[in-house]
Amino acid sequence: MPRVQFLGTGNAHSPPGRLHALVLIDGKILVDAPPTVLPQLRQAGVSPGEIEHLLFTHWHADHMFGFPFILLDRQYVSKPQNGPMNIYLRPNGKEILSNLSHVGFPGSLEGALEDDVEWIENESGSIGKSGWKYERFPVSHTPETDPHGYLLTHESGFTILHCGDSGPCEEINQRAENVDVILVEMGVPDFVESPYHHNPKEVSTLAQRFPKSTVLVTHNFSRGEGEMDGFEIPQLPESIIQLEDGDYLDISTDGSFDLINNRRKK
Ligand SMILES: [Zn+2]
Ligand SMILES: [Zn+2]
Repeated sequence: MPRVQFLGTGNAHSPPGRLHALVLIDGKILVDAPPTVLPQLRQAGVSPGEIEHLLFTHWHADHMFGFPFILLDRQYVSKPQNGPMNIYLRPNGKEILSNLSHVGFPGSLEGALEDDVEWIENESGSIGKSGWKYERFPVSHTPETDPHGYLLTHESGFTILHCGDSGPCEEINQRAENVDVILVEMGVPDFVESPYHHNPKEVSTLAQRFPKSTVLVTHNFSRGEGEMDGFEIPQLPESIIQLEDGDYLDISTDGSFDLINNRRKK
């Protein structure tokens, strides 16, 4: 059964109870690679060597600093289980990730960068033979990071719009109408008004505008459930689900889905 797991739901500050935002699909597709990607994968029982596809949204540290760690682990410990990793990224990304790897582990990753990576710069296509397709689209975030989101479509018909790290924008609105799930990164509280981030008010507006889609919130600025420190979890309309680390979606062959949500567990 296809599964979309949320291995982290926090913003760049990793608020109490939340690791950096990270999505794992079917145990082998990652969206982004935060600094703690290795422990996040291990907690989910997935070996870095099993990752076949890695899609990058943009070049902020909380979304990419884990890349050298994945490469290092695959080269020296877990070994690639199914050939090189396919890396889906913007044209400038190869240089950024190569430099990051050289800075992080000088002299140790040349082989891995040569043999364990396929750079894929197409803006849309199939994600290998996974049954998933992607379309990358530009979003509104710090321009220096070349920010993008992904529309992901499964062969069952299920669709999830990963908005990337973004403020409200037309590119999201254009795609949100007919998707099953909108995954939105709510990086800042209401007192921050920035064109580059969604705050709670803007997440509510998005949900009102697209009532047929399920809105899931990740990259949350607020503390996780049960934590005492940090920003309180904001009150949002009930239809909007603020994910917790470890939540996941199970998708059926007919494209319907169930959200397994830690907060709602009795
Ligand atoms: Zn971020
Ligand atoms: Zn960012």
